[in-house]
Amino acid sequence: MLEKEIKAYALRNAIEYGKASPDRILPKLFQHGLQKENIKEIMPEIKKITDEVNALSKEDQQTIFANYKDMIKERVEKEKTLPELPNAIQGKVLTRIAPEPSKYLHIGHAISFLLNSFYAEKYKGKCLIRFDDANPEKVSQDYVDSILDDIKNYLAIKPNKIKFISDDMKIFYQYAEKLIKDNHAFMCFCDREKMQKLRHDGIECSCRQKDTKTQMKEWKDFLKGKYKVGKAVLRIKGNMQDSNHVMRDPVIFRSVKEAHFRTKTKYKVWPMYDFYSPVEDSIMGVTHILRSNEFDQRVPLHNLISHLLKLKQQEIIQYGRFNVMDATTKGREIRDLIKSGEFIGWDDPRLVTLKALKRRGITKEAFLELLNHIGLVKHDVNLDFNMIASINRKIIDPIAKRYYFVDNPLELDIKNAPSTLQIEIPIHPNNPKVLREVRVTPGKVYISKKDFNEFKGKEVRLLHLYNIKLPSKGSKAEFTSIENKDIPKITWVSFPQKAKVLMPDGSWVEGLADENIRELKVDSIIQFERFGFVRLDKISKQAYEFWFAHR
Ligand SMILES: [Zn+2]
Repeated sequence: MLEKEIKAYALRNAIEYGKASPDRILPKLFQHGLQKENIKEIMPEIKKITDEVNALSKEDQQTIFANYKDMIKERVEKEKTLPELPNAIQGKVLTRIAPEPSKYLHIGHAISFLLNSFYAEKYKGKCLIRFDDANPEKVSQDYVDSILDDIKNYLAIKPNKIKFISDDMKIFYQYAEKLIKDNHAFMCFCDREKMQKLRHDGIECSCRQKDTKTQMKEWKDFLKGKYKVGKAVLRIKGNMQDSNHVMRDPVIFRSVKEAHFRTKTKYKVWPMYDFYSPVEDSIMGVTHILRSNEFDQRVPLHNLISHLLKLKQQEIIQYGRFNVMDATTKGREIRDLIKSGEFIGWDDPRLVTLKALKRRGITKEAFLELLNHIGLVKHDVNLDFNMIASINRKIIDPIAKRYYFVDNPLELDIKNAPSTLQIEIPIHPNNPKVLREVRVTPGKVYISKKDFNEFKGKEVRLLHLYNIKLPSKGSKAEFTSIENKDIPKITWVSFPQKAKVLMPDGSWVEGLADENIRELKVDSIIQFERFGFVRLDKISKQAYEFWFAHR
């Protein structure tokens, strides 16, 4: 019953996941007519076939699958497309990407940036980058450069315009003066503790009572730097009894001691996010804001500011926050680990910064695919490396060229070996006509220590070459036959090129790759068979250096 179908799914399952599992195969069979009452009967059959498939080498699984793949019925998946935006007019949509240049981007930023650029493209509109550089003590040109490099050269987003909050300081000051004139803002000189207590108790401070003329004079003095840093702030007259504490006379301007990387010491007073964000969105004519719901609490304040200043409003589309799992994403923690020498930098393979993912060989297509998978959900989404790795694998597996690499190599002398000097191996099973020529020294190969330990004393097949019997110890093996038998298959190298691979835990694995890797260019993403996908990072005299992507 359904034998061929079971085999087809088992093979595909094994190829995709490394090992086929009966639980994953059973549900597929219903579309081939399996009835619920027959599950008991069919399970042993599934189990038997999966075991057989799992015993095959990866290579054989691929070959056999080619004859079975027509059996597979793809569930017609409802195409998951991102929803339409409210009130989006073709050609008029303007979205923005607003990073603070104070950190390196990680996988969560990538998804949110791509979302904004996706919608701009979808409606043939524009997407601009706005650098939120209003914290002079944290922001720097290095971060601007790094972020632009990620956005343009990795995510391949083409911004229509790049601007900085620090470009519009004069406009922010004008808007602040309008608020003061209209009696909606006041200069406050209370210390932090007092401010906190009054806010907590819901009581207005006396600074609020001064007339607008005094307020304006104090504001001008504030701009000139007449008050010591931290002694004065500009606050909005909100509502000190509002249940949302954000609305309790929030601070909208503060003074900063540090020089700004662009404007130096020209401005001593800087706007807060809640103020500059709605003002800037209005100035720039942003139509749609796509952002995570972490700003939920602040929306009423943005609305109040928009209302008081008669700003243009935007459609706000909020989605769940992206939590990046299993990795340090906190800037400070990472900085400490880099300082101590534990991490090599912001691109350390243990991080999920875009810099690290790029060096490991995660393609930008994988992010786009991930975005499609997630969609615009309201709940928080946990992202981890494995999610992006499994998507990346589907993208690169059909195209990545394959080579052999043996880690911790062991040299073998093979008795009675054929005098073969050269063989041809397909560069990829999907592309059997493109061959790489592999030179062989008769009777001399390197295999990995791990393979030796696993199969010592047994007969194994050197992939695409011939079969040998491994000794139980020592280095003297023996040729047995050339026929492709159902025995374990291992990779080997005869004409070696030194290579090493940086693993996800930060350690290096050294070994030998076949000399054909010399045809590769830096940035190539390839597969070392039975080892994993890697990206060529650097070519040095000593060795070809790769970064491990995933299995
Ligand atoms: Zn006060």
